Amino acid sequence: MEYGPAPEDASAVRDWLRERGRFGHFIAGRFTRPGETFASRDPSTGEELAQVTQGTARDVMKAVRAARRAQRGWGAMPGHVRARFLYAIARTIQKRERFLAVLETLDNGKPIRESRDIDVPLVVRHFYHHAGWAELAETEFPGHGPLGVCGQIIPWNFPLLMLAWKVAPALAAGNTVVLKPAEYTPLTALAFAEICAHVGLPAGVVNIVTGDGETGAALVAAPVDKIAFTGSTEVGRGIARAVAGSGKRLVLELGGKSPFVVMEDADLDAAVEGVVEGVWFNQGEVCCAGSRILVAESVAARFEALLRARMGKLRLGAPLDKSTDVGAIVDPVQKDRILRILDRATAAGAELVGGTAAPGCFIAPGYLRNIAPANPGMVEEIFGPIATLSTFRTPDEAADLANNTRYGLAASVWSESATVATDMAARIKAGVVWVNCANLFDAAAPFGGMRDSGYGREGGREGMLDYLAVPVAAQRDPAPSE
Ligand code: NAD
Repeated sequence: MEYGPAPEDASAVRDWLRERGRFGHFIAGRFTRPGETFASRDPSTGEELAQVTQGTARDVMKAVRAARRAQRGWGAMPGHVRARFLYAIARTIQKRERFLAVLETLDNGKPIRESRDIDVPLVVRHFYHHAGWAELAETEFPGHGPLGVCGQIIPWNFPLLMLAWKVAPALAAGNTVVLKPAEYTPLTALAFAEICAHVGLPAGVVNIVTGDGETGAALVAAPVDKIAFTGSTEVGRGIARAVAGSGKRLVLELGGKSPFVVMEDADLDAAVEGVVEGVWFNQGEVCCAGSRILVAESVAARFEALLRARMGKLRLGAPLDKSTDVGAIVDPVQKDRILRILDRATAAGAELVGGTAAPGCFIAPGYLRNIAPANPGMVEEIFGPIATLSTFRTPDEAADLANNTRYGLAASVWSESATVATDMAARIKAGVVWVNCANLFDAAAPFGGMRDSGYGREGGREGMLDYLAVPVAAQRDPAPSE
């Protein structure tokens, strides 16, 4: 049996945390003195990891001013020069892969196998990919320029990866940023700030202000040119209202309740493995989790038997243990929120298989069966390791059920026939549809939602365009010649 990461990895992280102790913000290339602080904890043990500063509106303004000062030089730099910094960031993250994976796992509770093999490699790839876009900026986007200063607000489920999705394209396009990480998971963003300083990124290009929703609201209200927000639909709606009429560009990456459609001719073993990756990965704290499993009635009994057997083999446990499949929920508040939805779902008649809560921030993987379409468990985003399981008789019914949601972030379709799969994929209203796979991400592929899952894209050419402006002069009709 394999045990956790080499002890020296975890101890290097603990030494780093002990040395830092209390963190200020990262503004204009240096850490500020800590102000009023709050604790960031390891959710698997409750242990305090560090004290982090609660950002005030003044702190936010200071960061925005630093970003504004830096933007002129950064935006005017040739793309290939900006690219060098993005390459250097990618390379440094790659060298510190293990350190960052352990830090992420400690702060978030996700299994080390995932932070090490998925999160951090995707972060590295994102920076390399966007170094390429920086090099190509002038030729691929002629006449375009940066927006200016971007305010960026991210959630806690993939802290460093969500940072990469925001910072890499913004910088590649010549913008500067003020980023606010989630209050549960600020630590990898602060380690990233050190990496920015280490590679000599000009002061003020990246600024990190820590804090909660109030700090986020102050950033939304600040004089920035764009707000890029990833988080819940409810907060996203409030931000859209706050930004309305201000002229700020807005991109919202919000919640989801994505369908996972298993057609009659699907490879059931592969589909069950897909559920493991689509729903139970990252404790189900995934915006695009395929959390509504819809399976053809004719194969439903066989599918469920395989699903139950596979679920029974998943190991719930210490996030730093390499053999752990499902780690800790990010915070007791989130655990309670999940359990409350499950209570309401079962009170409304659904049957819960698995999904038992364990002491600490742990909830075992599970699913809700015999569940009516209007059951809260079927309608609300659970954002935990619990799927719903229901059946359909015809492809028409499958498409109707798949689209019976206010969200439209992602979907996954399983079939051995390319025609069946692509027909179904085309009928589902979602930003991303995976066929015979789930939760696959690529820096070159735009990601984003429809309907209540938000708008705008991150990744690829579309993601770059969301950080670029067409200069006003170029938008006007040419003056008529005399
Ligand atoms: P959340 O909306 O509570 O918080 C997200 C961020 O917004 C945090 O940094 C928080 O401090 C900040 N915030 C809170 N209130 C704010 C306000 N009034 N003004 C400005 N900022 C504010 O969401 P969460 O609980 O951190 O994350 C979970 C949600 O994020 C889920 O709904 C999930 O689906 C969604 N999500 C979406 C994507 C995507 O790409 N679409 C990716 C990851 C997570």
